[in-house]
Amino acid sequence: MNIRTRLTLLFVLLVASILLLFSVSVYYLYDQFRQQEFEQRLAEKALTTVRLREDVGEVPRADLPVMADEQVTIYNNRGIVLYNQGRQRPRFPISPGLIQKITVKKPQYVRAGAIEAVGVRYTNHSGATFVIVASGNDRYGFSKLDRLRQILIFGWILCLFIVGIAGYLFATDALRPVAELIAQVNSISATNIHERLRVGRQRDELADLARTFNALLSRLEEAFVSQKSFVSHASHELRTPLTVMMGQIEVTRLQARSTNEYEAAFDGLLDEVKNMIRLVNGLLELARASADAATLNYQSVRIDELLWQAQSQLIQKRPNYQIDIDFENLPSQEEDLVIIGEESLLQTAFQNLMENGCKYSPDERVSVRLSFEPGQVQLTFANRGYGIQPADLPHIFEPFYRSESTMTIQGHGIGLALTQRIIELHKGKISVESVIGNETKFRIILPSPLAALPDSVGTTSSTKIVQQS
Ligand code: ADP
Repeated sequence: MNIRTRLTLLFVLLVASILLLFSVSVYYLYDQFRQQEFEQRLAEKALTTVRLREDVGEVPRADLPVMADEQVTIYNNRGIVLYNQGRQRPRFPISPGLIQKITVKKPQYVRAGAIEAVGVRYTNHSGATFVIVASGNDRYGFSKLDRLRQILIFGWILCLFIVGIAGYLFATDALRPVAELIAQVNSISATNIHERLRVGRQRDELADLARTFNALLSRLEEAFVSQKSFVSHASHELRTPLTVMMGQIEVTRLQARSTNEYEAAFDGLLDEVKNMIRLVNGLLELARASADAATLNYQSVRIDELLWQAQSQLIQKRPNYQIDIDFENLPSQEEDLVIIGEESLLQTAFQNLMENGCKYSPDERVSVRLSFEPGQVQLTFANRGYGIQPADLPHIFEPFYRSESTMTIQGHGIGLALTQRIIELHKGKISVESVIGNETKFRIILPSPLAALPDSVGTTSSTKIVQQS
């Protein structure tokens, strides 16, 4: 059942209940009023009859007001009938007990079907007391009551009908903005994800809902655009070496070549293939680091050993690089060197920063400093070189972003994005400070094993960027 139908039904039910209560009350109160009025008439009739009989000696029929099925019976104190007037036979049944209950101040009312009776007590000048029972059928009163019932029932049904229509129109009107919102949301898809819902000038809940939805759309659009640009960058990076390789092969095949020329061509191709493998490995690592943190194999690892391993692996690839590792305040216990993490990912992150440090400094030298503080381990990777332009600083952690000033140096622009992701996975923080033409320093802070194990990705991580000039 949709909200409109539910609202209409609720509205009708509510109004129907209130109207029913009102109608029943009116009917009941009117019935009470009719009974009281008829009781009064019967009492007057009883007293008039007895007084006439006492004063005049007889009761002239024509002078008395006529009621339907009218009957007046006068009893003496012992319950013997002294006078009976009325066509109704048999006499209205009155028990001796009831006759005893009737006093001057307290007349008694009894009803048998449509016939109602009132008993009154009367004492004449000589002190004799009588009980007079007047009974009759309040035909006019009952017919008015019937009419009132019909009016109330008919009015109630008519009101329900009107309330049903009004409720439906009211619910439709109240829900129109919701229907508009649904239509607008339905019209937004991947092709027009930049569109937003119209919020309007109202400050109601629906405007809040539209604003919340717009905020969600903005976040989705951001993710969507970065996903799209990631795919196009990745394809571009893969296509460039493939095009170069194809060109080299085509040129080589143009004519017969000497063995040396073929060797040189193969060497060129090998370089390109190695370049591609590096890129594909980087992408795979990025995909792995972007996976759910819970799927990774976290274990205790010694941070100093990780640094030594990263250093030796990098030097194997690039023997001319100089990587200095310094320990500031070595902890007294070996266990303090241990952190909880994913060994291969952390090694990749450290290697990236070491490689960048050497790659982007003319002396191909990077200094790594390790220091320990309560609850955390801090690593800095510093190199003297070109530095990073202020305009580039906010972007260097984006996938495939490469500074214009370093375009001549080989790279794909995914090293820092991957490093940041890995540090986030370990609930750590990475920041960068750079002085143009001087020192560039990347700082990583990782929680020590005493801190909680990573349970969700990047909740406390952050990246800080500082530019000095
Ligand atoms: P890549 O080194 O493959 O280009 P990265 O993601 O590792 O990709 O780095 C992104 C960019 O950040 C680099 O292109 C470079 O301009 C800049 N950068 C990174 N590290 C340094 C550094 N130590 N000194 C100067 N620039 C750096």
